[in-house]
Amino acid sequence: MFSALTEYGVTGRAIRQGVVKLQYWNPRDFTTDRHRTVDDRPYGGGPGMLMKTGPLTAAIDAAKTALSSAGGAGDGLKSAPKVLYLSPQGQPLTQTKVNNLAQAESVVLLCGRYEGVDERVLTTLVDEEVSLGDFVLSGGELAAMALLDAMIRRVPGVLGAADSASADSFESGLLDHPHYTRPELFAQQQVPAVLLSGDHAAIAEWRARESLRATWLKRPELVERLQQAGKLSSKQLRWLAEFVSKPAKAQ
Ligand code: SAM
Repeated sequence: MFSALTEYGVTGRAIRQGVVKLQYWNPRDFTTDRHRTVDDRPYGGGPGMLMKTGPLTAAIDAAKTALSSAGGAGDGLKSAPKVLYLSPQGQPLTQTKVNNLAQAESVVLLCGRYEGVDERVLTTLVDEEVSLGDFVLSGGELAAMALLDAMIRRVPGVLGAADSASADSFESGLLDHPHYTRPELFAQQQVPAVLLSGDHAAIAEWRARESLRATWLKRPELVERLQQAGKLSSKQLRWLAEFVSKPAKAQ
């Protein structure tokens, strides 16, 4: 499944260049029975199966040992890797969380299947639960891939200056500004004149204002949060007042 990360785009390039290394530990490789069983019926009955403690704990221990041991993948690690369980019951993922995780030397991601994992694995081996949002996926791998993609593009050196993430949505607490490319006229809509002006200061000002406008229109609660925390400049507050009095689309 993870070839979506390793073979394509920004993440594929980072992995090929060795900036980031992914390793996998399959719980089935840590089973002792003929059928390589990783699941079992839940105590108390009910539908579905659960991931058993044995293979999971052995797989997590193997990952931690490999990442921490001298000469291993994590040779020279300063701290033991955190174990994160991708789970709909975790704290919803944010860009701030992604940026923090991207600074870690290594991290172990636990992907669940079936109805999830035995609770005792969570209480003994998992440091944190992380959710992609308030919906349920059938497995943790897609969630892990989404988290890894977001982390890898924030690892220093992965994005070039040309496609730096600093203007991306959420980096400043706001959404990104609108973007345009050729042609200048599409569906009777002209590219905003300032973007063709070559005036870099005016373009930067337009982008800052339209970033605030996009956030105010699409995610007003984010603007409200910044306002309540006193994090909007007097210029941004003035723009906000203009949007409210003249809620027309971007010029
Ligand atoms: N019974 C579990 C519950 O309701 O909390 C859901 C289990 S789900 C079918 C199987 C696995 O998918 C989970 O163990 C978890 O690893 C992953 N998963 C599902 N939804 C997720 C989400 N929103 N974010 C992250 N991982 C998720």
